[in-house]
Amino acid sequence: MRGTAQYVMPPHGGCLGRAFPCGVIVSSVLFFRRPMETPEEFTKIESIFVRHRNALLVRGQFTPIYTDYYLHLMQHEIRPPAELDQMLKDAMAMLALHLVARPWAETIAWTANLRAPRINLFVTGSSFEQAITGRIFTEDVREPDRNYFYSQTTAIEGAKPRMSTLEILGKDPIAWVSQYYDQSEQRPARAFRLDDENFALLAAQPDCDLAWLESLDEAAVAKISETEETTLLESRQFRFHCGCTLDKILPILGGWKDKPEQLFEGAEFINIQCPRCAAKYRVTRDMIV
Ligand SMILES: [Zn+2]
Repeated sequence: MRGTAQYVMPPHGGCLGRAFPCGVIVSSVLFFRRPMETPEEFTKIESIFVRHRNALLVRGQFTPIYTDYYLHLMQHEIRPPAELDQMLKDAMAMLALHLVARPWAETIAWTANLRAPRINLFVTGSSFEQAITGRIFTEDVREPDRNYFYSQTTAIEGAKPRMSTLEILGKDPIAWVSQYYDQSEQRPARAFRLDDENFALLAAQPDCDLAWLESLDEAAVAKISETEETTLLESRQFRFHCGCTLDKILPILGGWKDKPEQLFEGAEFINIQCPRCAAKYRVTRDMIV
């Protein structure tokens, strides 16, 4: 054997096993290998005009986004309860569809502050960045007297964001969409959860056949291309991606620079979570001086 390195293969596979003789663990390889730019990793979202009904249909199949979302949870050892996990996935799908119904150059963030479960659900995304991300806050969440929904839209970098706040009913992100469109977009819209992680959003255009829009159910939306005259307007791509790095996270701790003891409380390191995607970063004292 050359040198002193020993390459011990674990008895079983798994994320902490050594993938290669260089010692890179399987999970690292998994993440380094993530082919971020290949089309398979993106969810394609189509924007379709439904002629004669005068409605915009936006739809997509979200398995690629959800696959990367679960890889992210695995990497950072995040284990949300099933109900919250589903709510976050639904909200990411809804925001991605809404982004495609909106102009390209917008970055939008939604926060839902709920009474029960008492959580802050946060999602954000941008068509330009082709990215969507989000997380759920369960600790230190203000108990609101009702469920609130906050939307922040930034059109151009540096411009003042447009904020809207509304009360929402229920805890289903699919149902929030029509409430949001009624109050903030001033036009009716309906969202649908279809089979096989497909989602659709229908938004009224001028002279929309509102009775038809109101009559739609999941089955009718699933076969709309066969029953209605449609025109594909454009398609955009989204992936699950935050873009956070340790360098971007560290400035959050700037206020502790002069009082590291209060932050570390004797510990050698602390774990900081990204406020956008909950990714965990290990921070040591020397990093914040
Ligand atoms: Zn992040």
